[in-house]
Amino acid sequence: MGANYKITTMLLDQRWNQRPGGNRIPRYAVAHDTGNEGSTAKQNYKYFNSRNLEASAHVFIDDQEILLIIPLSEKAWHVRSQVSDANDWALGVELCHGGNIIWKEAYKRYVWFFAWLCRHYRWIPEHSIKGHFQLDPARRTDPVNAFKKYGVTYQHFLQAVEAELTKMGPVDDEKEQGTLYRVQIGSYRQPENAVEMVKLAKKAGFDAVIIKTK
Ligand SMILES: [Zn+2]
Repeated sequence: MGANYKITTMLLDQRWNQRPGGNRIPRYAVAHDTGNEGSTAKQNYKYFNSRNLEASAHVFIDDQEILLIIPLSEKAWHVRSQVSDANDWALGVELCHGGNIIWKEAYKRYVWFFAWLCRHYRWIPEHSIKGHFQLDPARRTDPVNAFKKYGVTYQHFLQAVEAELTKMGPVDDEKEQGTLYRVQIGSYRQPENAVEMVKLAKKAGFDAVIIKTK
């Protein structure tokens, strides 16, 4: 067993441009650093939740916490649209560093979270994690510019994620896939009430079906 960190959810208000919504299963993750030395995960949350911005990311990580500010199923604007499909299909994960942030602790959480993503989505680290510098080499150097200050290379990072993933152990597919958990939201005597509830569920973004039982 490796470390087991907590992922804290503190979502941006949906009224902001930087949380455009959507509902997809992400295909890969992009490793970023904030490029703003000393700014913590919570400070980033506050900044991104205070005004309309043209950029965003799903998760900010510092030496204290792993802070999820946009649901992983939603879109975020973390890479220039012209250079890749990352905004539509990838998760943006930002490393906070510098200032009073303890590098070792922040980096450990960052590595752990990428391993957690790989386990969760059944991704292979070297195929499913891209550095921002790889997607937009003309304009970006993150997260390797931050890594360099602490003697870490991008290759070290991928190896560390791989090692963490191994420590987490295999996903117990039999246990996790053998049972179905069905969510029920109502039972009605009048069919029109059931139809009404399906409409409500669909409007809220959930697929729903009516099953008749005696
Ligand atoms: Zn970046």
